[in-house]
Amino acid sequence: MIRYQLQCDKSHSFDSWFRDSAAYDSLSATGAVSCPVCGSATVEKQLMAPAIGKSAAKTDDAPSQAMALAGEQLRQLRELRRQIEANADYVGPAFAEEARKIHYGETDSRNIYGETSAEDARELHEEGIEFAAIPWVPTAKN
Ligand SMILES: [Zn+2]
Repeated sequence: MIRYQLQCDKSHSFDSWFRDSAAYDSLSATGAVSCPVCGSATVEKQLMAPAIGKSAAKTDDAPSQAMALAGEQLRQLRELRRQIEANADYVGPAFAEEARKIHYGETDSRNIYGETSAEDARELHEEGIEFAAIPWVPTAKN
């Protein structure tokens, strides 16, 4: 998965995760990527942070600051985030390094998620290292 930090034409910043950069490109080209605050489909990438993750877990629901997202979409995205957090190791800014080690068999194969620069993400992509992205919604805190 790959995480993009996006900004709409009204300067609202938000994060979105996509399966890969091509998925972002095609969604964005059809106007399917829109600002959760104002709904504008004119959005641009800022930074990105990819993650590798697999899913399997169940989640609950809870409110959060991202109420501007459509409820069902938010619920699904939050569930996806929880699945990733439950099934992948968070490696933070070391994502690119860890993804390479896994790809080249230098460490145990496992699911990871984290953050990296746009440049590192592009290099990973060029090396054929798979990652994808989903909208990374805030978790709910009670
Ligand atoms: Zn906006």
